[in-house]
Amino acid sequence: MEIADVLKFLSPSSIEVKMALLSKFSPLQPGVMKQNWRYNKKFGYDSPSTSEFWDLFQKSDFRCAICSSQYRISVDHINEDNTDHRLENLQILCSPCNVSKANDGVKNPDAQYVIMSEFRVYIKKYGEVPTTRQLAKHIKSKHEFKNRPLSGYLHLYHFLVFRYNNPFQSKQIEDCISITQQIIEVLQISSDEALRAIISTCTPSDHYTTRSNWRNSKRYGNNAPEGAVFLELLVEAGYKCEECSNVSKLSFDHIDSDPTNHLKENLKVLCFTCNRKKSRKGIKFENKKAKIFDFMLDYFHNHGAIPPIKRVGEIFSGDTQSYLGGEFYFYKYLEKRFNDI
Ligand SMILES: [Zn+2]
Ligand SMILES: [Zn+2]
Repeated sequence: MEIADVLKFLSPSSIEVKMALLSKFSPLQPGVMKQNWRYNKKFGYDSPSTSEFWDLFQKSDFRCAICSSQYRISVDHINEDNTDHRLENLQILCSPCNVSKANDGVKNPDAQYVIMSEFRVYIKKYGEVPTTRQLAKHIKSKHEFKNRPLSGYLHLYHFLVFRYNNPFQSKQIEDCISITQQIIEVLQISSDEALRAIISTCTPSDHYTTRSNWRNSKRYGNNAPEGAVFLELLVEAGYKCEECSNVSKLSFDHIDSDPTNHLKENLKVLCFTCNRKKSRKGIKFENKKAKIFDFMLDYFHNHGAIPPIKRVGEIFSGDTQSYLGGEFYFYKYLEKRFNDI
């Protein structure tokens, strides 16, 4: 698939594209990883140190040990013993390779990408929207899916049909295309990888998962509307945030802030950002990674070198104190990429 075609079809805003790419391709914060492992039985309540994590990332050039992709890299235990944290037992894997390894290749890690591209191929070939059966058959004839291709992805099929029948064009589409090209160049990623990130961020998540999450959570009164209600809400909202028209990270908000009042009139489609704004948490520094990237790119163009970390911290603080916080590692990652240019 061509990047421009996909962007036109999904029509995110330029900041959504930027955030999708920067967050899927930058390494996780080692401090956060350390915390997660230490509080997790799976990892034996133990973890390598922050600097050991960071060394692993750096030594692998932030790339998967199997396929060299930078897409959502994480640390994997080579011998599959998740408590064996010896450094020689650890390697960096991208998310698709990780999923393949964990499921022995059963789940197709690239399902979203394949379903979307074959949906488009089908329409080009036959001139009409496929039924679920037709699309599944078409995908099976070309790809190795061990289970039914649309299993777990019906929500994506519904979305693709809706968007095909109700195209909408973001005004920032030219910006989106040039930003994507720019990030591909700086981060040295392939256009397929970039598409994978854009598709996964800018298509809706499975509302059946939301439904079962609500049902399993006391906060939501262990109750949820039927799947059809969620689908109606998405369709009526045009698969966009009802506040700001963002297309990524959509969720269902309870208008009266009572998370147990699931009446349809009380539910609204909001993006992650608008949802956070509404809740008490708020957002301290929105789109921090995008701001850091823009500043560093600008500085690099003007000075031929990357800015000292102090300068980058100043974007957020207005004084000399560094407020980069956990994004210190994002800075270090970009430093490496800019220096490779
Ligand atoms: Zn990989
Ligand atoms: Zn929004």
